[in-house]
Amino acid sequence: MRILLVEDDQDIAERLRTGLEALGFAVEHATDGADGYLMGKEENYDAAILDLGLPKMQGLDVLRRWRAEGSNLPVLVLTARGMWSEKVEGLNAGADDYITKPFHIPEVDARLKALIRRNSGLAAPVVTHGNVSLDTASGRVTLNGEPIDVTARELRMLNYFMHRIGRIISQAELTEHLYALDDSRESNTIEVYVSRLRRKLGADIITTVRGLGYRMDERR
Ligand code: CA
Repeated sequence: MRILLVEDDQDIAERLRTGLEALGFAVEHATDGADGYLMGKEENYDAAILDLGLPKMQGLDVLRRWRAEGSNLPVLVLTARGMWSEKVEGLNAGADDYITKPFHIPEVDARLKALIRRNSGLAAPVVTHGNVSLDTASGRVTLNGEPIDVTARELRMLNYFMHRIGRIISQAELTEHLYALDDSRESNTIEVYVSRLRRKLGADIITTVRGLGYRMDERR
């Protein structure tokens, strides 16, 4: 199982990493909130361990942004002892569970496994919209049951729309979502991806809302 660890304290991070790796987890470590946020957004992890006090971007902001973008990554927040308000804030921001420092590795292990188990049981990884379905775990897209080849970026755009049916999505929002890691942000390429999705999945899959952006309609 692949775990994202976002923790700036080197000692704590090392203890978690060695402890969890000894138990068979693959651990990838981010030392600040900004890196952690991007890794959680771009990569697929089974769960994340997120410290709240972080440089560059606070843990709560990392979590809120992931959730606002529709991520259902199971998140275990690390809180300081006696800080009950951190637990409340963490849970309110979308954490699945918390663990208090100082912690014992077997407890972290047990909580992670419980989260991952719960997530795989509860999550409905296949999103369906009319005759189009998207398996969010494997990235497989089908149209009338037939598999359709889509590129990584088309997949991200489709996934974004399919989680926001009926909502107008501006070009700026799509650009932000599609190019978070790139330097080149050309908004006219959004049109290119929209037209590719239309070509592959049907012209009416995405409606242009003149002057405002795009929308995936509910009717399909
Ligand atoms: Ca910290």
